[in-house]
Amino acid sequence: MHIAVVGAGAVGVASAYLLSRAGHRVTLIDAQEEPGRGASAGNAAQLSWAYGDAMASPALLKHLPAILAGRDPAFRIRLRLDPDFLLWGLRFLANMSAQRWWSNTQDILRLAAESRQEMALLLAEADITFDYRVAGKLHLYPNIANLSAARPAVERKKAMGIDQRMLSRLEAEAVEPALKAYQGEIAGAVYTPDDALGDAAIFCRQLTDFAVRTYGVSTAFGNTVAGFEQHRGRLSAVRFTDRAPLAVDAAVVTAGPQIRSLATSLREAREIQPVSGYSLTVPWCRGAPLVSLTDVKRKLAFAAIGNRFRVAGLADLGLPGAGFAPDRFAVLREAANTVLPGCFGQAESEQCWAGERPMTPSSRPRIAPSRNIRGIYINAGHGMLGWTLALGSARRLVELIA
Ligand SMILES: Cc1cc2nc3c(=O)[nH]c(=O)nc-3n(C[C@H](O)[C@H](O)[C@H](O)COP(=O)(O)OP(=O)(O)OC[C@H]3O[C@@H](n4cnc5c(N)ncnc54)[C@H](O)[C@@H]3O)c2cc1C
Repeated sequence: MHIAVVGAGAVGVASAYLLSRAGHRVTLIDAQEEPGRGASAGNAAQLSWAYGDAMASPALLKHLPAILAGRDPAFRIRLRLDPDFLLWGLRFLANMSAQRWWSNTQDILRLAAESRQEMALLLAEADITFDYRVAGKLHLYPNIANLSAARPAVERKKAMGIDQRMLSRLEAEAVEPALKAYQGEIAGAVYTPDDALGDAAIFCRQLTDFAVRTYGVSTAFGNTVAGFEQHRGRLSAVRFTDRAPLAVDAAVVTAGPQIRSLATSLREAREIQPVSGYSLTVPWCRGAPLVSLTDVKRKLAFAAIGNRFRVAGLADLGLPGAGFAPDRFAVLREAANTVLPGCFGQAESEQCWAGERPMTPSSRPRIAPSRNIRGIYINAGHGMLGWTLALGSARRLVELIA
């Protein structure tokens, strides 16, 4: 079967790889000139096999008044009178109950476990390097109340066979000695030793090259998909803004946050909202931690990626079209420098990046046939965890198409 994969971010490249490995003829398409330039480019690099928490949660609901009043710099919400946005917001609210949060989180964790298995298979098969490392991760809790509130979820995840450990500050410092100099509040930590990291942009480029070389994947980069042609309700070709249509038997839409540009053809695209985030990357900084850190109070993620150090964070909803937002980078830089003084804002080579998380209200990605056109499959809406979930989602997609 000839399958077009529309979008070459982490999810699209993983899909193209596994579809071609399963014997399909694949054309991987992207509007950009190379893979991995969208939401996957400058993310926090975390392969969070053991984390996977859905965004809509009782804790976020409790914090919502402070966010809406603009008292938490990590979040910015602008309410829009757009029916899709309002419906998405209502569905997001409906997912904030303890029951829904845990059900969504369990689903995400199962998908993350499948991703982890696929990553092991990939690393055994392909000679690709993308600064992959099993770094482990420490979630730093600022006070005893927050730490105690985290305990029930840790116990539930342990019952699922996931290695999560509650640590005191001293125990956390033994895992990551750089924490001795950490200027943020630490009452204790949740440690996930199996969590890994890697550069998603390099992964996209290297895995594309590997799939081209090994499984004969064709690429069409620098080509923007405008929609789809159908015959009696079944897909017949992919239509472009800038070249002749491509006749295919099936198409997989992995367009990340930009899936909304295809909303006239695909109803599902309207169920995904972009949530902007930002990152700063500097050359290796003295005293920086090697274990990945999440500062729960400030919603910051720190990662040592190869010879670089990155901080990522912030979540802006209702402000689509993430771009260069100097005020948001200043918020991120200030928060990061509060806890790890001197790392950010010093190097001339500091790279500022903004991206959009493609969020569904439940944080669970949509991996399903399109409800509009037979022969089209959606693999999108991976939110805060698209890099983590890419390979597992691709595996499910292959099973779905089979
Ligand atoms: C600040 C931040 C930190 C994050 N940290 C993490 C993390 O640590 N771990 C984690 O797992 N996830 C993280 N994420 C989330 C993760 O980056 C995303 O979920 C993931 O990148 C989504 O991948 P994707 O392939 O679906 O989308 P993308 O990477 O955006 O890829 C979509 C591609 O489709 C192309 N495209 C779109 N429309 C068209 C069209 N019409 N025609 C042709 N091409 C098209 C785009 O050019 C793009 O290349 C983070 C996100 C942000 C913003």
